[in-house]
Amino acid sequence: MDEYGNSGEGRATRRDEAVRAAVEQGLLGPDSPIVGLLDVTGIRESAAELRAAFAEVTAPGTPVLHAFAVKATPLVPVLRLLREEGIGAEVASPGELALARAAGLSPAQTVLDSPAKTPAELREALALGIAVNADNPQELDRIDGLVRSAVSRSPLGIRVNPQLGGGSIGATSTATATSKFGVALRDEGAREWVMRAYLDRPWLSRLHAHTGSQGIPLPLMAQGVAETYALAEEINRRIGRPQIDTIDIGGGLPVNFASDVTAPTYAEYARALREAAPGLFDGRYGLVTEFGRSLLAKHGTIVARVEYAKSAGGRAVAVTHAGVQVATRTVYVPGSWPLRITAYDGKGRPKSGPEVVQDVAGPACFAGDLLAEGRALPLLDQGDYAAALDTGAYYFAHHYAYNSLARPGIYGFVPAHAGGVRFATVRDPQTLSSIVAESGGAHAGALTTLHAPGSR
Ligand SMILES: *Cc1c(COP(=O)(O)O)cnc(C)c1O
Repeated sequence: MDEYGNSGEGRATRRDEAVRAAVEQGLLGPDSPIVGLLDVTGIRESAAELRAAFAEVTAPGTPVLHAFAVKATPLVPVLRLLREEGIGAEVASPGELALARAAGLSPAQTVLDSPAKTPAELREALALGIAVNADNPQELDRIDGLVRSAVSRSPLGIRVNPQLGGGSIGATSTATATSKFGVALRDEGAREWVMRAYLDRPWLSRLHAHTGSQGIPLPLMAQGVAETYALAEEINRRIGRPQIDTIDIGGGLPVNFASDVTAPTYAEYARALREAAPGLFDGRYGLVTEFGRSLLAKHGTIVARVEYAKSAGGRAVAVTHAGVQVATRTVYVPGSWPLRITAYDGKGRPKSGPEVVQDVAGPACFAGDLLAEGRALPLLDQGDYAAALDTGAYYFAHHYAYNSLARPGIYGFVPAHAGGVRFATVRDPQTLSSIVAESGGAHAGALTTLHAPGSR
């Protein structure tokens, strides 16, 4: 166990206490059969660990902005908590920008990346002074027009793709030869185009790459950053002055979904980066990072009540309230995104007893809606709870409206005096009237008023 408790023992204890307290305090029960829980202590620890890891490898005084990738956990209270921990926001849509602003993040703490920014989005970002990374030549054209027509304080850069290849999960591999992101550096003429772009635009001061993600090995990530650094050096040498003053290394640190241990750690990654590109940390460049999953994943837990416990073809099946609506990737691509499941009894206490191979099913009406298939766990009974661990990023904050299942309430927790637990509401459970409203409730008659010519 290191100073940040990366063995995860503290995390597991806090989680167990929170599940029990959620049942005792009525957040979880027959009428609220699913919740998302966020471990505030753990989130603060990860933020501190991130800051410390880069402080350790950078020259004193190096400006470093850690911008949390909002898409990982798009919840305003989470962004506000991270802001208090000195973490900014990386946004990739007008919605995410609105969330960051609602959390009180300043333009200087915000970075806009996205592969499909509209002219209006670009104009707003430049008016606010938010950093923007152009994804492609057409977008840079649009930025040219805006820069000509108005003064902006926005730091501006270009996103490149070093095309190093993918990892074990295709859908989250950002640096493949044919990735849709950034300027593909190894394509014919691309490097020269990037060089010209900087030579012609003295206001282009940043270079961005995001080459990691779940399934990408650390050395490949470090190589992506090293190649980006080498390109910045080459550009600055050609121009004859340090025009690029900041390198945005993206996020993408993978998460260990197999146990409570944090691995790899930010400290390990930062050291690997310093080894791969020592010059990046010698104080000549400011740094931006964009971690998402690695900051939040291990601090979220979905807890769902077992509505029915049945048996089919000799297999025990626990029918719970957590399935595809909160664990979309896991349900559709279970091989790439397995989740740990723990069993709690009806009072929210960890369940013991012999392990039985069983399915943990969700509430949606299709056969594949399984949170876990053939998993060995203490046998789940009716009224027990199943918890899906490490779901703080890209899970319960990414509701999928299959079967019009309601978005669950999300609660943050901290240990309280005398073994208690204090909760705060992060997001209320979705109401039925909200589901109706989001499903066109205000336009109930809309289609019946449309008649093609000649029809009745
Ligand atoms: C998704 C994304 C991130 C965050 O990735 P994680 O794997 O969650 O750390 C960072 N930067 C960009 C540009 C992204 O698209």
